[in-house]
Amino acid sequence: MPIVAPYLGMSLTLDDLDAENLAYFRYCAAHDFRLQRCRDCKLLRYPPTTACPWCSGSGALWEPVEGRGVVHSYTEVHHAIQPAFKAHLPYQVLLVDLDAQKGRPTEHEALRVIGNLTTAGGKLAPADIVGRVGIGTRVRMVFADVAPGLALPHWAIDETAQQKERPWRYPEE
Ligand SMILES: [Zn+2]
Repeated sequence: MPIVAPYLGMSLTLDDLDAENLAYFRYCAAHDFRLQRCRDCKLLRYPPTTACPWCSGSGALWEPVEGRGVVHSYTEVHHAIQPAFKAHLPYQVLLVDLDAQKGRPTEHEALRVIGNLTTAGGKLAPADIVGRVGIGTRVRMVFADVAPGLALPHWAIDETAQQKERPWRYPEE
């Protein structure tokens, strides 16, 4: 069964053919963050995909992974390209290095998981929170319920973590 759900005036669809993403988002709907672990080389991978990017192995098991990490990079959106986002400007899209498997299989690698910056309650973060977050901020995963059977994994500031005094941010006018 495909997943189809409305989100901010748009229609999100996960097709039947996309077995890996259907499985991934089924776990997300239960607020259960899981990634595939390769049966051959034992490495985790993201995004969900058919074959292992490290060894091309096709077998994998879905394994629970802790949704914590550090902002690797970000985009801050000030001009909405979709009308429904206009009310939420500025918002941030984060690329987060998971703590899990960081530095493997080489020191430059990490599982880099994308998501929006949200409040602890899963709502798109307001400007005062957006202004606090930059490269190096520690974040934790939160799930935003969109519709029955669909939740989106996002990121919120990890208030329990030791934070840098000033994370790196793009120069502002
Ligand atoms: Zn592998």
